[in-house]
Amino acid sequence: REEYARYHNPTRAVAERKLADLEGADDAIVCSSGMYALTVTLLRILKPGDHLLILDEMYHRSQDLCASVLTKFGIEISVVKNSNLDSLRSSIKENTRIFLFETPTNPHLYVQDLESIAALCKGRKVKTIVDATFASPINLLPLKFGIDIVIHSCTKYLAGHNDVMAGVILSRRSIIESIRELHFTIGGTLDAHSSYLLIRGLKTLPLRIAHQNASAESIANFLAAQPEIKKVFYPSLPSHPNAEIAKRQMSGFGGVISFDLGSADRAKKFVDALSIPYIAPSLGGAESLVIPYSIVVPPTHEEIESGNFNIEPGLVRLSVGFEDVKDLTEDLAHALQAL
Ligand code: PLP
Repeated sequence: REEYARYHNPTRAVAERKLADLEGADDAIVCSSGMYALTVTLLRILKPGDHLLILDEMYHRSQDLCASVLTKFGIEISVVKNSNLDSLRSSIKENTRIFLFETPTNPHLYVQDLESIAALCKGRKVKTIVDATFASPINLLPLKFGIDIVIHSCTKYLAGHNDVMAGVILSRRSIIESIRELHFTIGGTLDAHSSYLLIRGLKTLPLRIAHQNASAESIANFLAAQPEIKKVFYPSLPSHPNAEIAKRQMSGFGGVISFDLGSADRAKKFVDALSIPYIAPSLGGAESLVIPYSIVVPPTHEEIESGNFNIEPGLVRLSVGFEDVKDLTEDLAHALQAL
């Protein structure tokens, strides 16, 4: 298929081989973004009348794709409670085709028990798709636990420098081949230059992830000891609801930390008082990035009326970059004093 760049490009093919090897997959499709990777995968597997299960906490655009777009094409959606196998078991129906989830989730870093999910879904002929963007293949290899398909936004850790948009789908050969046919038609291809930048990013992936794991863990421990903070979410903290499964399943916990400052005003004030992280909604790159989460992803009408928020109004999400961890910690301490 070398006659046309939507079908094949030699640089992109190298990126696909490297990512497949890294993840322990037969094959991979490298494509234009994480959202496209998810979209083409779901469109290939689902048909009208099918039932799709999604986790109650995911990247808001992934939720939107399922709830607002796929439902228009006759796909039925149900929501499964985070880290709750009983909720998953009781939600599976005759027409359930897929369980789509993240681990760790955005933004609370909830961790799902992959082995139990894979065993339960296989027994009921439900395909499992995990978006493991927050982990990266250095910290977690979901296929080893029996998960069917792994998706990453390569925009984050895999390319790693906040300068490329890309996605990848990883699975066994038969699944990748069937998705690739539709991908050739829809055409969310990655160009050669972005593929080259992705390959270049992969060369330093283990070094970058080791640094970000260590810095984030140190910062999470620091934040957890600060009285100005209501709660810190990081999978290695004993207070995290999924700390035990995270330790069993992951070899590191990633560079993202979320914490609740109690109100949206405090979150805004804190973020404005920081001087090192950029205020921006991505993660996994060289520069630390921070967002007051509920301002970037506002609560729904129902949440405001009921007072029951899925996302705490004071939640801040911090993606730890490559800066010196002492400088970052001092910057955070200084911003806390400004509250
Ligand atoms: N999955 C997760 C967990 C994300 O955080 C994001 C992006 O923000 C995406 C998928 C979408 O990836 P992209 O921005 O590359 O389309």
